Amino acid sequence: MGKLIVFEGTDGSGKSTQFELLAKRLEAESIAFQRLRFPQYEEPSSALIRMYLGGAFGDDPEAVNAYAASTFYAVDRYASYQRVWKDYYQDGGLVVSDRYTTSNAVHQGSKVPEAERAEFFRWLYDLEYDRMGLPRPDLVVLLDMPVEVSEQLMRKREQSTGTHADIHERDEAYLEKCRAVARQAAEYYGWKRVSCVQSGTLRSVEEIHEEVFSIVRTCLKGE
Ligand code: ADP
Repeated sequence: MGKLIVFEGTDGSGKSTQFELLAKRLEAESIAFQRLRFPQYEEPSSALIRMYLGGAFGDDPEAVNAYAASTFYAVDRYASYQRVWKDYYQDGGLVVSDRYTTSNAVHQGSKVPEAERAEFFRWLYDLEYDRMGLPRPDLVVLLDMPVEVSEQLMRKREQSTGTHADIHERDEAYLEKCRAVARQAAEYYGWKRVSCVQSGTLRSVEEIHEEVFSIVRTCLKGE
C-alpha cells in the first residue's frame, strides 16, 4: 500500500494554498505523488453534492442531516478511488488530497449534537474505510484558522475570482461551529493541527508551509 496525506480545514483556511506549496516542494525534492481534490465538482459522481450545496434540498445546511449528506460525499470519493487512484496507491504511490472523508467529520459532524458526535465520528470512518474500502489517511493536516480571518480571506478571494460562496461558506455561525468540531475531530482521530494564527496575527503562507512540510517529511520517513 502507498501513503495518503490529506489537507483539512474549514472553508478559506488555506487548504488550496498549502496544497500547491506542498506540491511544488515535493516536485522540487523529486518525490513522486498523485494529486486529488474533493469534492470532484466536474464529475458525475458529485451530482448530489452539487444539488445539496446549490440549495436543492433547502438553503440551510441543516436541511440535510449529517448521515445523508455524508453519503453524498462518500460516493464521490468511492468513484474517484475505483476509477483514478486505486492502482497507483496499491502499488505503493504517494497520494496527496485537498479534503477527504475528514471533511465530512468537520462539515457534517457540526450538525450532530455534541453528545452524539463521537458516535458520528465512529460511524463515518467505519462507513468509508471499513465498509466502502477507501484507504485510511496516514496523515491529516488540519489548518486551524479563526473564522473571522478565513471569512475576510474568502471575501477577497470571491472578489478576485468572481466566484460566489455556497450555502456552507455563506453561513458564519455554521463555519464557527465547524471550526470547533474540526478541533474536536483532530483530537478524536489524531490529526496534526497547524495553527495559522500566532499571537492574534495571521502567519505567512511560507511559515505555515515550513511547519506542514516538516510534518509531511516525518510521515514519509514512516516515523
Ligand atoms: P481553502 O482552500 O481552504 O478554501 P484557500 O487556500 O483558497 O483556502 O485560501 C483562501 C484565501 O486566503 C486565498 O485567497 C489565499 O490566497 C488566502 N490565504 C490563505 N492562507 C493565507 C495566509 N496564511 N496569509 C494570507 N493569505 C492567505
